[in-house]
Amino acid sequence: MMYTSTQNNNETVSSAQAIAQGISREGGLFVPDSFPQYDGITFETLLKLDYRERAKKILSDYLTDFTAEEIADCVDKAYTAEKFGSDNPAPIVSVDYKGNELNILELWHGPTCAFKDMALQILPHLLTKSLKKTADGKIAVILVATSGDTGKAALEGFKDVDNTEIIVFYPSDGVSPMQKHQMNTTGGNNVGVCAIKGNFDDAQTGVKKIFTTEEVISALESNGLMFSSANSINWGRLLPQIVYYISAYCDMVNAGKIKLGDKINIVVPTGNFGNILAAYFAMCMGMPVNKFICASNSNNVLTDFINTGSYNKNREFITTVSPSMDILVSSNLERLLYVLSGRNDEETAGYMTALKTTGEYTVSDEIKKTVLELFSGGFCSEDETLKTISSLYDSASYLSDTHTAVAVNVYDKYVAQTGDKTPVVIASTASPYKFSRAVLSAVEGQPVTDDDEFAVVDRMNAKTGVAVPAPLEATRTMEDRFSDVIEPDNMPDYVLGCLGLK
Ligand SMILES: *Cc1c(COP(=O)(O)O)cnc(C)c1O
Repeated sequence: MMYTSTQNNNETVSSAQAIAQGISREGGLFVPDSFPQYDGITFETLLKLDYRERAKKILSDYLTDFTAEEIADCVDKAYTAEKFGSDNPAPIVSVDYKGNELNILELWHGPTCAFKDMALQILPHLLTKSLKKTADGKIAVILVATSGDTGKAALEGFKDVDNTEIIVFYPSDGVSPMQKHQMNTTGGNNVGVCAIKGNFDDAQTGVKKIFTTEEVISALESNGLMFSSANSINWGRLLPQIVYYISAYCDMVNAGKIKLGDKINIVVPTGNFGNILAAYFAMCMGMPVNKFICASNSNNVLTDFINTGSYNKNREFITTVSPSMDILVSSNLERLLYVLSGRNDEETAGYMTALKTTGEYTVSDEIKKTVLELFSGGFCSEDETLKTISSLYDSASYLSDTHTAVAVNVYDKYVAQTGDKTPVVIASTASPYKFSRAVLSAVEGQPVTDDDEFAVVDRMNAKTGVAVPAPLEATRTMEDRFSDVIEPDNMPDYVLGCLGLK
């Protein structure tokens, strides 16, 4: 299997190269040239396997330039019971809520308590093997722009991994106190963490710019370094996410909630469009899906896109209680447009150029129609997010984080509007303890005024009895190691400084 750039069909690379490079030279994203097709018999086989064995089967169908031993090594190192609390890193918890059964796919049992661990625990292993195959001897410099969760997950995945350096940029006022604390306390000798004065889009734009700044690239090259990416533009991030949707489908069959072949609905709290795109790619492989429900917070650029076919980022950026979804440029949408346009690289590049120059684009009528058939887009206000947390807790004894609450709220509205009772899987993307302040204020029905983040954690634990995840507990007594705050324009210099090249 080869991978093609969304913006140049002549740019064709192996999976190892796609992962090592992160992004195509002209700025496009790599997409597999076809999707492996899983029929009923393949699913029958998958039903009998555990998570790790399912992952090995799916990864091996995409990473055809890796040996079975290499893939097994990556998977077995990533998804251990030690790191994810059990042998199933992505368990489903079913709750009755407002007359519907919600099958909540908890993706946050990893070392940083957000779903990003599902990909970022395995990416370093995939990347170091990819580097060996394509750029032996080079050191990969991982640049990350984060809205909070990716940063910590990437730091945990890459810290002290040989032949890698990792530098994380986050918006100084755009992440939760716990997220900031988690990042700034990361150990390891190859890590850098820096806040920028700006929002997530500024951080992401800054990182993308560094990737294509000749002066920085050549400084790296002459020192045996090369850039790579741990953001969800990297194929090595998306692929492990396909696994948990297929695995969840199998678990739904095994639990007797659906029969093999039945369709499900999938609800995803969405920011950069990576997680929901992975679900769509699972459908492209043969997993039966009725509807993808794309849930946004007040930054509802995707809701508008799905409903109108016009993407317009020229709007106010709103800082919300679900900060990991505070995004106006959803990078992975580019991959969807490429696939839905029939792999039309010129058309896709045209949309992306328009986005860069005018901040907006409108897709063809064909794409618009297909998007509406496949996806339902909705959004949830701040007030609705907190009300959903409180009502989910009161009526179903389920404590959800703010992002998952957005998904549940948008799903509620979808069912009310359509009456569609297809069995549903809802992606739950973070532990409620990552966003304790907002979650506790929802549960208590009043603002939380404590200064100390762990005082809030303790109160929530006392009130709900829900255990504090061990990895968060472990950061309680750690001192911050990082405190730099810079202007986005200074990001290239900062990177060179970190690497000792300036
Ligand atoms: C990253 C993140 C999201 C958004 O996921 P995308 O793949 O960017 O759409 C949602 N919730 C949480 C908790 C996250 O960390």
